[in-house]
Amino acid sequence: MQQEEREIRVERRRPSEPRPVRRLSEQYDARRPSRNVRQPQAARRPSQDVRRERTQPLPPVSPRVPQSARPQPAGQAARRSQAGARRPSSGRHTSRRRKRRSRGLFRPFGFFASGVLLVILCFMLGSILLKEDESLPTAVSVPSSAAAEPSSGPPYTVVIDPGHGGIDLGTDSGYVTEVEMIEATTDALVELLTNDPNFTPLRTRENGEGMSVAGRADVANDNNAALFLSIHGNYDETLTASGFECYAQTPGRATHEDSLRFANEIVAAMSAAGAEIRGLSGVRYAYYVDNGDGTYNKIIAEASDTSVRSEVTFGVLEKNETPAVLVEQCFLSDQADCNAWASAEGCRAAALAYYHAICAYFGTEPVTG
Ligand SMILES: [Zn+2]
Repeated sequence: MQQEEREIRVERRRPSEPRPVRRLSEQYDARRPSRNVRQPQAARRPSQDVRRERTQPLPPVSPRVPQSARPQPAGQAARRSQAGARRPSSGRHTSRRRKRRSRGLFRPFGFFASGVLLVILCFMLGSILLKEDESLPTAVSVPSSAAAEPSSGPPYTVVIDPGHGGIDLGTDSGYVTEVEMIEATTDALVELLTNDPNFTPLRTRENGEGMSVAGRADVANDNNAALFLSIHGNYDETLTASGFECYAQTPGRATHEDSLRFANEIVAAMSAAGAEIRGLSGVRYAYYVDNGDGTYNKIIAEASDTSVRSEVTFGVLEKNETPAVLVEQCFLSDQADCNAWASAEGCRAAALAYYHAICAYFGTEPVTG
């Protein structure tokens, strides 16, 4: 959270110029080995291209259905051509057939009858096998009709952003660092999404790497992602606060409503998993008020406050063109919160809740849990 503020300040100062700060932010970006930012994206782009190829023709169901029909005409054509090939040379056979006919048209196991039967049986068997092969991907893509949302799936590209990273460990409770909790949760969530054919998960950064705020948002923007989730942990210096909260893109933005809907799904899933929900609904908006002296005050508004304000929110949401939510998984300053949501088991439980929320957002059926 504190680090997020720092990052926001850096972002805000950039346009308004003060030289020392601009230099700092440039150093900040420059210090990040550019391979940390670019390599994963470059590596992901090809898979994105593959995804587009897969999805552009339509949901995977449609292109495959005609395919299942294709073998039949092809087979029929082949049979016809085989039959056609036989015909010219069939002068002798014709006389044989005449002989056979003269012996009895309904001779049950004659050469000709068994040949025809064999071809028909082969054909029936072939078409059954083909249908069974096709049923696999068809079954996998069933939820496509239920998905009302973005045009980019299934599979939907979902970007998971492990906050902080590199030299920035986030907050440190003494029990666990924020970045440890974030990366464990991200690993579990990406695994869940990877195992679900409805999703193509992308991470903004690998474990241990650092990344700029703008670079994180760009992973979603550059990949035409359908959804973005940034994972963080909270900290309270008075050591009294606890619970889960999340931040949606603010009213007035094009992605506000979808972001709010996703945030509500996350709160519902975390609540069902037993999390304590903070505030009126667990969904809030954060605004940074410029004090005019290079400092900012953060203002928190409840989701029910729909007034459109000029202040910016968290950079990773502000710069995102994708419906995006930032979660504060728990308070790392609270031991009970840490035990419940920052332990290895707690991180997996949170990841499962986020996964269920993502499925609910797209109207797909979870494949696990
Ligand atoms: Zn944080």
